[in-house]
Order: sequence, then structure tokens, then C-alpha cells
Amino acid sequence: KTGWIEVVCGSMFSGKTEELIRRLNRARIAKQKVAIFKPSIDTRYHQANIVSHNASSISSTPIQNSIEILHLAGDCDVVGIDEAQFFDEKIVEIANQLANEGKRVIVAGLDMDFQGNPFGPMPKLMAIAEYITKVHAVCMVCGDVANYSYRKTAIKEQVMLGETDSYEARCRKCFHL
Ligand code: ADP
Ligand code: MG
Repeated sequence: KTGWIEVVCGSMFSGKTEELIRRLNRARIAKQKVAIFKPSIDTRYHQANIVSHNASSISSTPIQNSIEILHLAGDCDVVGIDEAQFFDEKIVEIANQLANEGKRVIVAGLDMDFQGNPFGPMPKLMAIAEYITKVHAVCMVCGDVANYSYRKTAIKEQVMLGETDSYEARCRKCFHL
């Protein structure tokens, strides 16, 4: 049995979590064993569940280090990982190892930070993935297709958890306004 890696990327509000949940639910319908992880720093909606902005949700295991994925994935067929941009670089090797063991690895995460720079391990995950899906949000200024996460506050740290209060999806033109 051969495994592979799928990446679902895009800006905030682009539907990454929705798409991840959709794929994981379908894997369960196919009677596959699914293990789902998210970084424990992301507790915006729920301590454990992965929750999308349109309120679909699936239970997950919050973890601190990507190495825990290896320890907890066990004999599952499919591994789902949300908010992968927040994980350490080791996640790249771990995704490879899981896929080499025959697992389907589905990784969702922000491809860019609020400054438009590649975010954490996402570029490397995209490089090693068999399949990449880039999903898009709607620009909150003009309604075009949005690929940027625009931060509405002056805070400059790369990681700042927030929602529609502090971020909005924007297209290339409106991101640079
Ligand atoms: P992500 O995980 O990429 O942040 P989610 O899957 O959690 O996205 O949420 C996607 C949902 O967010 C959409 O189905 C829609 O209901 C809602 N939404 C809110 N703002 C926007 C926006 N600007 N563009 C598209 N969808 C939006
Ligand atoms: Mg999400």
C-alpha cells in the first residue's frame, strides 16, 4: 500500500478547514481510520475540535510538537493536520515518513503570513506533496478572489491569533492599498 501527501493551502477564510473536514469525513465514510491533529496554540473556537468559519467541525487531538503526530498516528489510514503553518520544521520529515509508511496525509495551512511571506513549514510541505489545492477567499474590499490575509491591527509579530476582528481576506490589489 502506498501513501501520499495532500496540501490544502490559502489565506484566512479561504475554506481550508472546511475542505480538510470534507476530505476526512469522506475517508470515514469509506471506513478508513482517521487521526486528526492541530497545534495546541490554536484554541480560538474549541480546545480540541477543528472548527471552520462556517461552523462545521471534527474532533482532533491538540499537540505541541509535530513529533507527537508520529507517536499518536498509530495504525490509522489517514492523518489530517490543520493550521500546519504553526508547527515546527520537523513536520516536513514526519509527513514524509507517514506517507512512506502507506498513510494518506492531508495537511491544511496558511501559505502566507500577514505580510505575504511564506509561512513556517508550508513551502516545504508543498514541495514534497503529491497534490496541492489552493483555495481562495473573497476580498472584503472589492469582492474579487482573495489570496492574502490582511491584518487590521498594527501588531508586527508573525503569529497573532485572531478572527474577523483582526484579519480580513484581500486580493492582491487591495492587500497593497
Ligand atoms: P480557513 O480554514 O481557510 O480559515 P474556513 O474553512 O474556516 O476557512 O472557513 C471558510 C468559511 O468562511 C466560508 O465558507 C465562509 O462561510 C466564511 N467566510 C468568512 N469570510 C469569508 C471571506 N472573506 N471569503 C470567503 N469565505 C468567508
Ligand atoms: Mg482553518
